[in-house]
Amino acid sequence: EAKRRGRNCAVPYAAALDRGASERLQLVSQLREALRAGQFVLSYQMQYDRNGAVVGAEALLRWNHPERGLLAPGHFIGVCEDSGLIVPVGRWVLREAARAHARLKEAGFGWFRIALNVSATQFQQGIADDVAAVVREFDLPPGAIEIELTESVVMANPEAAVESMQRMREDGICIAIDDFGTGYSSLAYLRRLPLHRLKIDRAFVRDLGSGGDDETICIAIINLAQSLGLKATAEGVETEAQWRWLQDWGCDEMQGFLFGRPVPLEALLDDLRARHPR
Ligand code: C2E
Ligand code: MG
Ligand code: MG
Ligand code: MG
Repeated sequence: EAKRRGRNCAVPYAAALDRGASERLQLVSQLREALRAGQFVLSYQMQYDRNGAVVGAEALLRWNHPERGLLAPGHFIGVCEDSGLIVPVGRWVLREAARAHARLKEAGFGWFRIALNVSATQFQQGIADDVAAVVREFDLPPGAIEIELTESVVMANPEAAVESMQRMREDGICIAIDDFGTGYSSLAYLRRLPLHRLKIDRAFVRDLGSGGDDETICIAIINLAQSLGLKATAEGVETEAQWRWLQDWGCDEMQGFLFGRPVPLEALLDDLRARHPR
C-alpha cells in the first residue's frame, strides 16, 4: 500500500496513528464504564511456604469484558496507567482485597494474607492515606494486606517512597518488591526501606534446576533477602524441579502454576475449607 502510493505514504501512516489514538480513547471510556458497571474482578493465586502450607494469595486484576470475556491486565493496565484511570481502579482493587480479607476472616481464615499490586501513579498519589482509610474501615489485622511495588516505583523517588512505606507499615501493611532483579535497586536504599519481602522475578525461576546462570542470580537474591532480614518469594514456579531447587536453597515462599492458577474468591474459599476442615 505504502509503495503504491509512493510519496503519499505519509498519509496512510498518519491515518494509522490516528486510528491508534482513537482506539485508545475508546478503550479509556470503556474502562471508565467497566469501573462504574462493576466489570472488574480479582483473581487469587495462592502462595505457599517451603513446607507447602498456604500462607496467602496474590490478588490479580481481571476485566470481565461484556464481549471478550475475562481479560488479563496485559490488555488494559497500560492504558489505565497512561490515562490516570489506574488511580480509581487501584483504589477499587485495594477495597476489594480488603473486602475479600473480611470474608476470609469471617470464614475462619483471618491469618490469610492478601497481596496486591500497586502502580507508580497510584503509589505517588498518596497511597498511604487510602490504605489507612481501608485498614480502619475493614478493621484489618496486621499482616492482612501486602503491597507489591516494583523497583522502579521505589527508586524513582526513594526519599518519598520510604516515607509512605513507613506509614503503611505502621498501619500493619507488609511491603514486597515485585519482579525483583529486573530493575535497578540501590542496595544502599534497599537496606533503609521498610520492606518485608523480595519477589524473585519469573524470568530467573524459569531455568532453575538446570545449572544455568539464573541459578546464581536466585542464590544471590535469596542471600540478599536473608541478610537484610527479609523473606524471599519465587514467582512463576511451574515444575517440580524448580520447586525442589528453591526448597534446597532456602527460598521462603513460592507461587506458580505448579501449585495453582489464579481463581475467583469463591474457589479460593472452597480450597481453603478443603485444606482446613473443621
Ligand atoms: P505480577 O504482579 O508479577 O503477577 C504475576 C503474573 O504472573 C500474573 O499475571 C500471574 O497470573 C502470572 N503467573 C503466576 N504464576 C505463573 C506461572 O507459573 N507461570 C507463568 N507463566 N505465569 C504465572 P497477570 O495476572 O496477567 O498479571 C500481570 C501483571 O499485571 C502483574 O504481574 C502485575 O504487574 C499487573 N497487575 C495485576 N493485577 C494488578 C492490579 O490490581 N494493579 C496493578 N497496578 N497491576 C496489576
Ligand atoms: Mg505481583
Ligand atoms: Mg511479579
Ligand atoms: Mg510482573
